Amino acid sequence: MTIVAAPGLEHRLKREISGDVWFDRFTRGRYATDASHYQMMPLGVVAPRSVAEAERAIALARTDGVTVLPRGGGTSQSGQTVNHSLVIDCSKYLNRILDLDVTGRRCVVEPGIVLDDLNRQLKPHGLWFPVDISTASRATIGGMAGNNSCGARSLRYGVTRDNVLSIDAVLADGSAAHFGPVGAGLRDLPGGSPLRPLAEDLLAIGVRESDEIAARFPKVQRRVGGYNLDALAPNAPLHNLAHILVGSEGTLGFSTRIELKLWPLLGRRAVGACHFGRFYDAMDAAQHIVKLKPIAVELIDRTMIELARNIDMFRPTIDAFVRGAPDAVLLVEFAEDEWDENLHRIKQLDALMGDLGYAWDKSGVKQGGIVEVLDPKLQAAITEVRTAGLNIMMSMKEEGKPISFVEDCAVPLEHLAEYTERLTQVFEKNGTRGTWYAHASVGCLHVRPVLNLRLDKDKQAMRRIAEEAFAFVREYKGSHSGEHGDGLARSEFHEAMFGTRLVRAFEEVKDRFDPGHLLNPGKIVRAPKFDDRANFRFGPGYQGKPMTVALDWSAYPGVGGGFQGAVEMCNNNGACRALAGGVMCPSFRVTRDEKHVTRGRANTLRLAVTGQLGPDAFASDEMAETMKLCVSCKACRRECPTGVDMARMKIEVQAARAAKHGLSLHDRLVGYLPRYAPVAARLPWLFNLRDSLPGAAALSERIAGFSARRSLPRWRSDWFRDPANPPLKGEGRTAEGSPGWGDSDAANAETLPPPPGPLTRSDLPPPGGGEDRRDVVLFADTFNRYFEPENLHAAVKVLNAGGYRVQVATPSDGSRRPLCCGRTFIAVGRVDEARREAERTIAAIEPLAASGLPVVGLEPSCIFSFRDEIPAMIRDKRATRIADQAILFEEFLAREADAGRLTLPLAPLRGRVLLHGHCHQKAFGAMGAVEAALRLIPDIEVETIESSCCGMAGSFGYHAETIDASLAMGELSLLPAVRKAPADAILVADGTSCRHQIKDGTGREVVHVARVLARSLMAM
Ligand SMILES: Cc1cc2nc3c(=O)[nH]c(=O)nc-3n(C[C@H](O)[C@H](O)[C@H](O)COP(=O)(O)OP(=O)(O)OC[C@H]3O[C@@H](n4cnc5c(N)ncnc54)[C@H](O)[C@@H]3O)c2cc1C
Ligand code: SF4
Ligand code: SF4
Repeated sequence: MTIVAAPGLEHRLKREISGDVWFDRFTRGRYATDASHYQMMPLGVVAPRSVAEAERAIALARTDGVTVLPRGGGTSQSGQTVNHSLVIDCSKYLNRILDLDVTGRRCVVEPGIVLDDLNRQLKPHGLWFPVDISTASRATIGGMAGNNSCGARSLRYGVTRDNVLSIDAVLADGSAAHFGPVGAGLRDLPGGSPLRPLAEDLLAIGVRESDEIAARFPKVQRRVGGYNLDALAPNAPLHNLAHILVGSEGTLGFSTRIELKLWPLLGRRAVGACHFGRFYDAMDAAQHIVKLKPIAVELIDRTMIELARNIDMFRPTIDAFVRGAPDAVLLVEFAEDEWDENLHRIKQLDALMGDLGYAWDKSGVKQGGIVEVLDPKLQAAITEVRTAGLNIMMSMKEEGKPISFVEDCAVPLEHLAEYTERLTQVFEKNGTRGTWYAHASVGCLHVRPVLNLRLDKDKQAMRRIAEEAFAFVREYKGSHSGEHGDGLARSEFHEAMFGTRLVRAFEEVKDRFDPGHLLNPGKIVRAPKFDDRANFRFGPGYQGKPMTVALDWSAYPGVGGGFQGAVEMCNNNGACRALAGGVMCPSFRVTRDEKHVTRGRANTLRLAVTGQLGPDAFASDEMAETMKLCVSCKACRRECPTGVDMARMKIEVQAARAAKHGLSLHDRLVGYLPRYAPVAARLPWLFNLRDSLPGAAALSERIAGFSARRSLPRWRSDWFRDPANPPLKGEGRTAEGSPGWGDSDAANAETLPPPPGPLTRSDLPPPGGGEDRRDVVLFADTFNRYFEPENLHAAVKVLNAGGYRVQVATPSDGSRRPLCCGRTFIAVGRVDEARREAERTIAAIEPLAASGLPVVGLEPSCIFSFRDEIPAMIRDKRATRIADQAILFEEFLAREADAGRLTLPLAPLRGRVLLHGHCHQKAFGAMGAVEAALRLIPDIEVETIESSCCGMAGSFGYHAETIDASLAMGELSLLPAVRKAPADAILVADGTSCRHQIKDGTGREVVHVARVLARSLMAM
């Protein structure tokens, strides 16, 4: 299929539509993939602001002979959401609840509303839409209806089709129609309804094909392949015309309003985690387990358990519910109204496992039984691991990836064990393997054989596997698509699965709705071969172009020392499009724009690296735009289950641009801050003029891009001196300005013991430890040193009070300029200068680190640079050693307290502590340490604010071009939570920029954890 040229369409759309219209290569590239292995470049993309605009876009496309592809979250796994069409993205603006009838338990929504978002709004009414698919955080109701999506609890709630009451749709000819219940023989459809002729034809097809439907449609609950002709058959339980649109993958109509059936919220649940020593036995047991009437039975197998164990955020969950080393675990969930009944069922489950021969004290394959999971928090954590199943598998870094094409076949439960065993053998025969997981309750297990689709041999293996798998499914009278739909992956096989006659009937339905093949052509009917490489993401000629990189990517394959492999880790599943929970991805949360999400960025990089966006795309302005709102929060590094680390990738783009275009004045002022800071600190009155002299802020915005709406951090004359760097003649030592909360800290700094001299090798304890090992090295970062020295003083005071000898790290090159980690240079892409700074610091600290001393610091972004970027810039043992020993102040205290080595004389403090975590603290799992450090204070109450990035993110919030996004990020949850905090609450944030954002946005004082602890010491 070629892309139809439509000169003038872009112009007409832009003229007639107020929503977004994009025809540029970069945006089209971002919409060329869904979560399958396919890629088809669209002609253009429209994000309409209203249903009327969507209708207009469809009409203009029709006039120009351009096909149309409706799109929600783009998380489909079978290639139904890619096409050479005009994409209509419903997710950005068409995402409201239009009508809610709480008593009647129904609602009407626009198609782009995300399932979790809908359920968040329904929750206060005690209701939910219970088709709880794994992608609930980003899948839209339009997409769920398009695919007839199915949740883990379909045993109780059915699938999407069972819960859609009606659909308003725009049809290919431009007419709009309401599809809903029509009664037998269309008795409820008014005679004059424009829908009547279409409805009559559809029912006639149903009548004519009723025998064939009865004979050929699989009887399993999970059948989403083909059109729902069974809804048209005379014996259908309910004649609802909306059901022919459900599962039609955007090929019959464009849904504009969807009416949903709602259910009361689930009550408390009881989960039994059934452990099996042999996978086959787990599969065989499913048919017996469902007789206990659970609402879900979900499988996770040994491979998944092991992979999840290797992912930081999932390890504690696995450890909490997996006992020993089972081959498979079935998570059996009960949710009856009466809690006692749930407990009773868990007992029955336990007895059943006993009857099946399992006991914990047995050895071998019969060792097993159930682990009860009654704690809702652990249940939620398990759900998170389970729903991340696919992503967990995708975290493998090699070129071969788990591919979906036989991943959702469904077979009757009595055949499940045999089916999985036979398919596993087929995988082995073809030199591959697959990991099994998901919905054992309905015989719909997910499995994705690992294949490298760049290789012809693996492409051929894919066909052999598909043909054998579908033959088994036919033999068991199952369904070849039990959840994810047809798209490009399965439509080719309809003939084999449903027979020729029904496939002709499918075509008739399509032609009756859409004779001109306007809507998502080539899906469900008249599809290309499923292994046509022209439609693959790794299509013909797919190859990385040689590139130079600044950082180490050697863990991955491909060009750029592995950079290509790193960007290819994104499988498009869209977890980064979540609108709440976690941190990833703040720029998407405030823009809802595919350009500003981790996935969009990763796709743009992949296309650029492989030459699909033209020459020089990597350092282009469009690429810079794509990266512009990435705040380098590193949330994706932790929360993207395949580990896409966009913050690190952004450094490469910045470095390429800096090499090509040099630095802007803004970036120069940001990057070189540590170099000119000593001068600025000597002349603070001059450098602070920008915020006091009328007009200076506006001028700085015009010439250097620093937003006039922001004050800049204030230079202080009482900056933190290294012990080896006493003040020069004429330099002030007194506090300048008001340090705010804990003013007395500054005064107190004067009463601190004189700083110790620099540590030399002869001061060091002998390797191997001993009671003297209570020295720590303090790394005084540029920000705390010059802008908030009281934090460093407070840290020294606390450490001293804990019995530690604090040695401030000082330069070893004889210069007076303080040490720096290179963070500001990293931020602007001057990796060479960052490396110089880091080298200098390593040279100074290494002798101390080599003797085992911890390197303690206060600023999360600096300390985590030692652990993250610096080892990627400097590949030697010294950098690795410092990475191992660099530790945040609060991590150090928590670790020491945990080991029983810390006693601090702390007194209770009045007031509750409200804590905001710096993104890097969250990304590196350090939040527990801040909480633990605060809890060293007797009776203290600590509440952590559920927040994403504060939005300041280093220099991001100061730039005139990004200040709006910065403020919007702050307003997502952090600033409103702070405004609500009681006046006497102690606000704590360890990031310099977080403190600035909170102060700017709320006027409230915020302090570093070190100052809270120091205050508690002072109170003794
Ligand atoms: C990791 C992972 C886990 C998954 N887990 C599940 C699961 O548990 N259960 C499940 O069923 N699926 C699952 N899926 C598949 C997918 O997430 C679901 O099918 C989801 O409902 C798709 O929603 P979407 O908004 O992303 O739709 P999209 O992919 O954007 O669209 C899906 C289809 O609907 C059509 N469409 C979209 N909007 C409209 C509209 N307004 N009018 C007409 N047609 C429209 C599109 O053209 C397309 O054909 C999973 C996918 C991944 C990557
Ligand atoms: S970046 Fe990560 S979370 Fe986002 S779509 Fe890609 S793989 Fe999924
Ligand atoms: S670093 Fe943060 S802002 Fe950037 S892509 Fe990752 S999650 Fe989004």
